[in-house]
Amino acid sequence: MSFKSLGLSDALLKAISKKGYDTPSAIQQKAIPLILERKDVLASAQTGSGKTAGFALPILQILNNEPSLRKRPIRTLILTPTRELAAQVEDEFREYSEFTDMRSTVIFGGVGANPQIKALRNGVDILVATPGRLLDLVGQNALTLSKVEILVLDEADRMLDMGFVRDIKKILALLPSKRQNLLFSATFSKEIKKLANEFLHNPVLVEATPENTTVEKIDQTVYRVDKNQKTDLIIKLISEGNWPQVLVFTRTKHGANRLSEKLEKAKITSAAIHGNKSQGARTKALSGFKEGKVRVLVATDIAARGLDIPLLPHVINFELPNIAEDYVHRIGRTGRAGAAGEAISLVSLDEVGYLKDIEKLIGERLQPRTLPNFQPTETIADVKAQEVEAKKQKALHHSRRREGGNRAGASSKGRGDNRRR
Ligand code: AMP
Repeated sequence: MSFKSLGLSDALLKAISKKGYDTPSAIQQKAIPLILERKDVLASAQTGSGKTAGFALPILQILNNEPSLRKRPIRTLILTPTRELAAQVEDEFREYSEFTDMRSTVIFGGVGANPQIKALRNGVDILVATPGRLLDLVGQNALTLSKVEILVLDEADRMLDMGFVRDIKKILALLPSKRQNLLFSATFSKEIKKLANEFLHNPVLVEATPENTTVEKIDQTVYRVDKNQKTDLIIKLISEGNWPQVLVFTRTKHGANRLSEKLEKAKITSAAIHGNKSQGARTKALSGFKEGKVRVLVATDIAARGLDIPLLPHVINFELPNIAEDYVHRIGRTGRAGAAGEAISLVSLDEVGYLKDIEKLIGERLQPRTLPNFQPTETIADVKAQEVEAKKQKALHHSRRREGGNRAGASSKGRGDNRRR
């Protein structure tokens, strides 16, 4: 199948060929014709599946078929959970619209609002936004959503995980009731189905589950190792393997910082990326990583969501995620575009239960291995002691924060996009 046979215009085909794509991906083959028919679509697709082009191309075609009005009201709204994803989605819109007359912009929190307000004032056909900043700017009358014809919720499962459901409902209330709705989600939980029922109109379900195929293309290795040996093991693997570009996942922001510092001490260039970092720091870390200046990017799940880093050779789970689906998202970062990738998981005794959940989800047994000098010696009693210690540290951390917060007064109220990352 070709992009031309999907009914896309010459202007879009030109942009697609400039990007170097020859064949539409599974999700593109299924979603593009449905969106062009103006159907509401509920699509299961994860990062790496080509989902962005799956909605961006038909949207551009629809908008371009009806000439844009002189004042360019916002005709398409795309909501994303994170700033990085918003920026990437808008980048793709820009590239695909190069030979059309469509204009897009992106708004997200963590950076000054004025340039965003200015861009909106100039008129845009397509707006990509994170929910918090969008509501802020609506509150400031910087934009109106009364002419939106197409709404996309991208990575809707993440938006729910991050507590955006109320914001989404507020935004839905600002849109015209007659519109086309597209919902993309990596997983279909009960909550997603509920949300879909609330705002999609006779949706067509599209499932292009790349998950199994993705998993099959990836070499998965699990090392059983003690918790306190993980840092040494990761340093050994990266140094001895001479791995040039490694994405490492940790469960917490604090853990990401700590590991990144230890890697730096071991002369392995590294940066941490998570929700407590400023937008500038995150962008810098990501571009350093893409350019090869930063060898190891240490990320939390939510911060890594939607990062577009093609052809990553190695992904390491420093800790297993406690949600099995996140494992599939994480390792889906390797083995893209047909290239083989390697996913390594370091599993301590307390994580064996998570490993079982993952095996059940992917329908595959992941036989753990051990390495000389890294044989696990932890016992259940050690795990219990670690848990007690972790609780103590957490309580201490919270009480320190409370004290700090009392001293600082209530001056640091943040909103929207900063929460829970
Ligand atoms: P996404 O799942 O939308 O994040 O896309 C993942 C990556 O695949 C992006 O880098 C896209 O530029 C790329 N991509 C999208 N569609 C295609 C295609 N049909 N052929 C090759 N690469 C593609």
